[in-house]
Amino acid sequence: MTFRVLAGQLMHETNTFSVQPADIPAFEKLFCYRGADEIAEHLTGTNCETAGFMAAAEAHGWELIHTVAAFANPCGKVTDEAFETLGGLILEGLDANPDVDGVLLALHGAMVTDTYEDAETELLKRARAIVGDETPIAVTFDLHANVGPEVAELANIVCSYKTYPHVDMAERGRQAGDLLQRAMAGEIRPRTFLARRPLFEGADGGRTDAGPMLDLQAKARRFEAEPGVLNSSINAGFHHSDIFDVGPTVLITGDGDDPRYQAMAEELMDDIWARRDEVTNQYLTSGQAADVARRHNYNGKPLIIADYADNPGAGAYGDATNLLKAMLDEKLEDACFGALRDGEAAAALVEAGPGATVTLAVGGKTDAKFGGPPLTLTGAVVHAGDGTYTCDGPMWAGMTKSFGPSAVLRVGGVDILVVTNLLQITDMQQFLTNGIDPRKKRTVALKSMQHFRAAYQPIADKVIVCDSGALASPDSSRLTFRHIRRPLYPFDDVTL
Ligand SMILES: [Zn+2]
Repeated sequence: MTFRVLAGQLMHETNTFSVQPADIPAFEKLFCYRGADEIAEHLTGTNCETAGFMAAAEAHGWELIHTVAAFANPCGKVTDEAFETLGGLILEGLDANPDVDGVLLALHGAMVTDTYEDAETELLKRARAIVGDETPIAVTFDLHANVGPEVAELANIVCSYKTYPHVDMAERGRQAGDLLQRAMAGEIRPRTFLARRPLFEGADGGRTDAGPMLDLQAKARRFEAEPGVLNSSINAGFHHSDIFDVGPTVLITGDGDDPRYQAMAEELMDDIWARRDEVTNQYLTSGQAADVARRHNYNGKPLIIADYADNPGAGAYGDATNLLKAMLDEKLEDACFGALRDGEAAAALVEAGPGATVTLAVGGKTDAKFGGPPLTLTGAVVHAGDGTYTCDGPMWAGMTKSFGPSAVLRVGGVDILVVTNLLQITDMQQFLTNGIDPRKKRTVALKSMQHFRAAYQPIADKVIVCDSGALASPDSSRLTFRHIRRPLYPFDDVTL
């Protein structure tokens, strides 16, 4: 028999401290495809969850009902209008097809809307109300999901990314699809089990290339190899979020109701608790990072400086100037810096055009207390373009995205990539399509926490990490948390 499966992707990582809302235009800037034709045209064969859903549909001969595939760059809360409109496409699809055999949803897990602190739980509740208790629902989450306890009751199958940098989106989509197939065929009766502790952040921010996550993920894979265990997911959580259910969780999806599943989730959570203070990164100030760059012995490969705190991938504004100012003060040569999001400056630079010498204020315009004030700079425009690029690195390979109108301003020895749309640096094409070859620079400063490593670690002589004081600083002490559950470590002295 041919199974009918309804699929939807609606993702946002919400930094509740950002003043920039995720409205419908914010989704459309990254991607927002509606209906089967648009989704298939843009996402087939790419490294995203929906592509994995499509691969599963083809392998298992399903009739796949597409609804929406939408993803906004991390920023402030999702507007009610965006949630109801885009989430509404999934729910309308279910209303029209309440007898589907299964449901596949690609969610982030850290989406907060104007009304709902835990928007994924709300969406799952509404979906469950339409399809009833017997229809299996499979969900993928980002590794940085803040998972509320009701998710375990609402979703039969949960598959979170196992990598950070995230490079397994399509793979997890396919895995969720394959498990859904087995559930629909009656081979398995999957249930999900959740564990957490009174913990605000942990698992080393989720990075899977070093530190405690190596051991945690290895144990999770061992659990996954045990009879009956279908998936073992570690969610590091997303702590730039002032919500009750913030923090790390472990989710085990098992066949049937065996107490071993909860025990495995608890054991992994115990490990996360025991290693809660382990952090692999060493954070330098902007001045220290620029000083390291000035003294660095160039051997043909660049020194990479990650502007961790101004990571647009964590909802920071992407316009912090502290690190750029330090690099200019140190008079670095053969350096690049990007992407600095300042639509006003980008428009002025594009208008002036390559070859022009201009003086203008760049960056620092959203909130100067997070990362520094605007810098008034004089330099030459060396490139201008529409900012469109197609990823060729491991993350989101094959997907086309756009910085919007973009230009490169050369000030002293630093090429500054100034863009319109907020996007983290994850791919070499982001610089290359703007005329900057990072492989040929002595110093590459980029706005990203960890995702850059997928494409940039292989070309780097060395990577250093900078806390420029921007909104996504690892130091949360400048933010006021009012809605988190208490007690919660490290805000409270918790003993278990
Ligand atoms: Zn993530």
